[in-house]
Amino acid sequence: MTYDFDLFVIGAGSGGVRAARFAAGYGARVAVAESRYLGGTCVNVGCVPKKLLVYGAHFAEDFEQAQSFGWSMGKANFDWTTLITNKNREIERLNGIYRNLLVNSGVTLLEGHAKILDEHSVELGGNRFSAKHILIATGGWPQIPEVPGHEHAIGSNEVFFLPQLPKRVLVIGGGYIAVEFASIFNGLGAQTSLLYRGELFLRGFDSAVRKHLQEELTKRGVDLQFNSDIARIDKQADGSLHATLKDGRRIETDCIFYATGRRPMLDNLGLENTHVALDDRGFIKVDEQYQTSTPSILAVGDVIGRVQLTPVALAEGMAVARRLFKPDEYREVDYRMIPTAVFSLPNIGTVGLSEEQAKEEGYSVSVYESRFRPMKLTLTDSQERTLMKLVVDAKTDRVIGCHMVGPEAGEIVQGLAVAIKAGATKQIFDDTIGVHPTAAEEFVTMRTPVAS
Ligand code: FAD
Repeated sequence: MTYDFDLFVIGAGSGGVRAARFAAGYGARVAVAESRYLGGTCVNVGCVPKKLLVYGAHFAEDFEQAQSFGWSMGKANFDWTTLITNKNREIERLNGIYRNLLVNSGVTLLEGHAKILDEHSVELGGNRFSAKHILIATGGWPQIPEVPGHEHAIGSNEVFFLPQLPKRVLVIGGGYIAVEFASIFNGLGAQTSLLYRGELFLRGFDSAVRKHLQEELTKRGVDLQFNSDIARIDKQADGSLHATLKDGRRIETDCIFYATGRRPMLDNLGLENTHVALDDRGFIKVDEQYQTSTPSILAVGDVIGRVQLTPVALAEGMAVARRLFKPDEYREVDYRMIPTAVFSLPNIGTVGLSEEQAKEEGYSVSVYESRFRPMKLTLTDSQERTLMKLVVDAKTDRVIGCHMVGPEAGEIVQGLAVAIKAGATKQIFDDTIGVHPTAAEEFVTMRTPVAS
């Protein structure tokens, strides 16, 4: 049987583009279908525009702190429209780069919604295409709880295109996206509250990190309300919103942004025409090699709901391309020790196990912790403090967790992740000479374990 393509990829996001380009590079005939935007969530409504907004928000404190270094300036003004226009221009540039990357690597780009017709066929724009393998890389979609009045709230797809900066914002959620946007809105000057139904945000992160960030956000004026949830939303005649909480309290605001999780994007994908099974959370079920219950159909990225991060989708996409078209170079994706950052202000950087996870997994741990005022702030009134923490397996001396809250935490932890993945012991950290004067040197100078 001859097919139109060796691989038909649905979704030109992080995972899909990586799989398509590598497969084409290995000589396969590849098509990729995209219904919305090249580059997917990360480029258009995720990592990239979010980081640009975080940079924008950080200037508020830069201007303030500059005065302690002798700079004087007039009153700083912020213009939301300029930031969003420039951000949109950059995203368009990246969309163009993605288009060139695909086309130049020989991939056939099909713009439109793809629907699977059977285990080897896909329909797009009234045309039927056949393929030996189909890869589902359709990503996720924001999930907004259906409380009465939820249509007045926005999700992460809309937040990047707000016509103006709201004066007051209510961010709902306890995950990293909620925390990041609370920092963005607060930094840009909106009166910001974050509501989360749990005890403390960022479940799964080290508890010292969670508490430290709680203190830092509070110092910066973010109103944190835990154990709180919205029961209903009412729009007022003047356009403002009233959020009635489950405990009866009412909050007036101008914008309610739900960052309460993402569901897999399976809309009108045609899974009913296949034997592709879902797991109990509704994500596509795959084996270790990303094969679904229909052998010719594979899936990677957010749609399989493993670790919903761009570098993980990239690694999975690459693994699929190799497995299908360059098996001698195939390597399984290693899900251990994945470093991540939260681009809150201040940032979080983390790799490996939290102290709590390490103990749950049966490790006997030594914990090293340092809290200090960053040198750059010593001339200023800022009371921001940095936290650094190492979790060490007391039996083997291996560093199994590394956590930081402070400026450039993501940049610092990326480097340390290599050492930790390579199995570095605390002794190796101690034997490493610091770079002075930096904040990062603190990671190689912590000598005395703290009582955990
Ligand atoms: P996506 O990138 O979502 O791509 C899926 C693509 O498939 C989309 O372009 C979609 O239009 C297309 N599609 C869907 N259905 C069809 C169809 N039937 N036919 C044709 N096309 C279809 N990750 C990080 O690592 N770091 C971060 O800082 C970070 N920040 C984030 C911030 C936000 C606000 C959000 C929402 C996410 C963030 N992420 C971050 C997560 C990251 O964006 C995702 O993990 C990543 O994009 C997943 O890649 P993917 O290939 O699985 O799916």
